Amino acid sequence: MLPRVFEYFRPKTLEEALQLLSKYKGEAKVLAGGQSLIPIMKLRLASPKYLIDINGLQNLSYQRTTDGHLALGCLVRHKELESFEAGNTGLHVLRDAASLIGDPQVRNMGTFGGSLAHADPSADWPAVALALRAEIKVKSVSGERKIKAEDFFTGPFSTSMNEDELITEISIPLVKGRAASSYQKLERKAGDFALVGAAAFLMLDEKGVCTKAGIGLTSVADKPVIAKKAEELLVGRKIDERSVEDACQTIREDINPPSDVRGSSEYRKEMAVVLAKRAILTSLRRISGG
Ligand SMILES: Cc1cc2nc3c(=O)[nH]c(=O)nc-3n(C[C@H](O)[C@H](O)[C@H](O)COP(=O)(O)OP(=O)(O)OC[C@H]3O[C@@H](n4cnc5c(N)ncnc54)[C@H](O)[C@@H]3O)c2cc1C
Repeated sequence: MLPRVFEYFRPKTLEEALQLLSKYKGEAKVLAGGQSLIPIMKLRLASPKYLIDINGLQNLSYQRTTDGHLALGCLVRHKELESFEAGNTGLHVLRDAASLIGDPQVRNMGTFGGSLAHADPSADWPAVALALRAEIKVKSVSGERKIKAEDFFTGPFSTSMNEDELITEISIPLVKGRAASSYQKLERKAGDFALVGAAAFLMLDEKGVCTKAGIGLTSVADKPVIAKKAEELLVGRKIDERSVEDACQTIREDINPPSDVRGSSEYRKEMAVVLAKRAILTSLRRISGG
């Protein structure tokens, strides 16, 4: 099917884009990578009257370290994060997740900001943003605000952003110390959306005791989920197979996965536990230099 008729704008500045979003509030959609928006427009599940293409905004594709944070411009493509060098940041999860998204064509075009804004419960970046306790910077003509990832996703394909707001940046806290992270994904075939996914971030002291833990889950509810109980059980404990097993068993209580043709709710619960354990133990191995 072809999309319904729409008017197309390609602003040259962020201010111009925000003015257009304000003027056509509720009737306009931002176009970033187009990898989710264009398919749903072709299916006529969305028919915006106005498309505001932000690909002409040159200054939104940055990756920079500022003030104890890694700042990613909203137009950073999945492809660019596939080669992210974690160094001593512990942010291996960025490379892991990026390389598991869709196929090369999707990764070349799709953006981090677009994936968060789209808020698909099966998408990979939202769980990563939760595990890393990222903040999402949004702007409108009235100003700027930062939304914690845990407050950002409100339901399937819905967020706490207003219709005239644009994500400009994703800000990820950087830690000092022994840290690592991992993303694990179960997909029916290569390039598919996650049947279940788990992102984990782990920080340890010199004795191997956990000082910080973040776990975000994909495809286990109507929005991405933080495994809060499991995180709490890890912090203050020495991380080994036993403590990880104990913590991850609590994940079942935190999630209510859907049943569909791709997998039953019970299967997804089981896989969420398995993948979270794998993500934490991979992080542990990475901290130990493995
Ligand atoms: C075949 C295929 C396979 C895929 N597989 C996966 C997968 O395995 N895992 C996965 O996570 N994703 C997958 N995707 C989705 C892909 O990652 C998309 O790129 C992503 O979800 C949306 O990013 P985008 O930049 O393409 O956004 P667009 O499609 O341009 O926009 C999506 C939505 O976000 C809004 N938006 C975009 N940018 C902003 C912004 N800066 N501020 C405010 N609103 C904004 C748009 O208005 C629109 O509503 C797949 C897509 C396809 C077509």
